[in-house]
Amino acid sequence: MDITQFPQLNPPQRLLMGPGPINADPRVLRAMSSQLIGQYDPAMTHYMNEVMALYRGVFRTENRWTLLVDGTSRAGIEAILTSAIRPGDKVLVPVFGRFGHLLCEIARRCRAEVHTIEVPWGQVFTPDAIEDAIKRVRPRLLLTVQGDTSTTMLQPLDQLGEICRRYGVLFYTDATASLGGNPLETDAWGLDAVSAGMQKCLGGPSGTSPITLSPAMEEVIRRRKCVEAGIRTDAHQDGDDEMIYSNYFDLGMIMDYWGPERLNHHTEATSALFAARECARLILQEGLDNGIARHKLHGDALLKGVRAMGLETFGDLTHKMNNVLGVVIPQSVNGDQVRALMLDDFGIEIGTSFGPLHGKVWRIGTMGYNARKACVMTTLSALESVLNHLKFTTPQGAGLQAAWDHYGSQA
Ligand SMILES: *Cc1c(COP(=O)(O)O)cnc(C)c1O
Repeated sequence: MDITQFPQLNPPQRLLMGPGPINADPRVLRAMSSQLIGQYDPAMTHYMNEVMALYRGVFRTENRWTLLVDGTSRAGIEAILTSAIRPGDKVLVPVFGRFGHLLCEIARRCRAEVHTIEVPWGQVFTPDAIEDAIKRVRPRLLLTVQGDTSTTMLQPLDQLGEICRRYGVLFYTDATASLGGNPLETDAWGLDAVSAGMQKCLGGPSGTSPITLSPAMEEVIRRRKCVEAGIRTDAHQDGDDEMIYSNYFDLGMIMDYWGPERLNHHTEATSALFAARECARLILQEGLDNGIARHKLHGDALLKGVRAMGLETFGDLTHKMNNVLGVVIPQSVNGDQVRALMLDDFGIEIGTSFGPLHGKVWRIGTMGYNARKACVMTTLSALESVLNHLKFTTPQGAGLQAAWDHYGSQA
């Protein structure tokens, strides 16, 4: 093999302004380049405990079981669903975008009886609509998405925990795209399980999924627990419910690895854990509420700038996530050509859309390390140039001025 055909890695410099992934904070990249240590080194288990404590702060919870599942965000989703759903369980999924469909698919693989309610893309559910469906279906679990990046909508969750408690329903949300950029109160909102991912507002690389489990959810999972032969002499299935079909996603085993037992399961993804630790440290150092306000500030500046250019936005703006904006692609331009010019000539990535929005909407993100003024101004300026180049005329400088005005600057 001619190894010279494989030069040293040198990825292009990009400004990632799509719906995720985003550029990682340089401090996170530095943390990831730290040397590896053994998985039972007291320094490593100390870092694992620190990560649990830090993510309790990020999730706003007292839950003991707040840890990382190794794998991208859907590893966290799959670990929770696989561990909590018993074959035949009824689950209810309010679907308002692509990621609601993903929850249905994973729940079906867990052999749940899946019930859905749907609203058109660009809308969210009222608590009443969800309560009515709970009364009708009587599910064991309510599976929700908080921020569905496919539509840019944020489902209000604050009243659902109370409803779930009244009907004895376990309450889960996928907060991958929303956590850190929009309010999420795990304990105050009565959530039994939440999963997230690093590559959105948390500002890190994909590859690890922070999750948190309430004591009630822990009990459900412990009832299905299995212990691997060769790890403990009394290896057996010690739960009374049917065994979780996955070894990798068996949260009972993962808890025994993160807990004081330190029973061997997988080898914790050390570099990814270093990154996740630094992300949480940066978020809590800034202050979670300050970070959410920052996402709102830059999301709103982008929105004003886009509108001043004469572009339309997608969806019900009263329920828009702070960190991602849907922009309707004007009839006269080719959406993919705009994205290609943004990438090739400006080094800026913006997002396309899936399903019913494909070819109709761009998605522009302002999240994590890229929820910054310079990123918003650079993106608006490039978008204006590209649109005018393609003969979609915008009032010159209007987008930048509107964003500047939003920031309160007189420049
Ligand atoms: C982006 C996103 C994911 C991503 O999952 P990965 O496995 O990290 O690619 C999951 N859920 C939601 C709501 C998202 O927005």
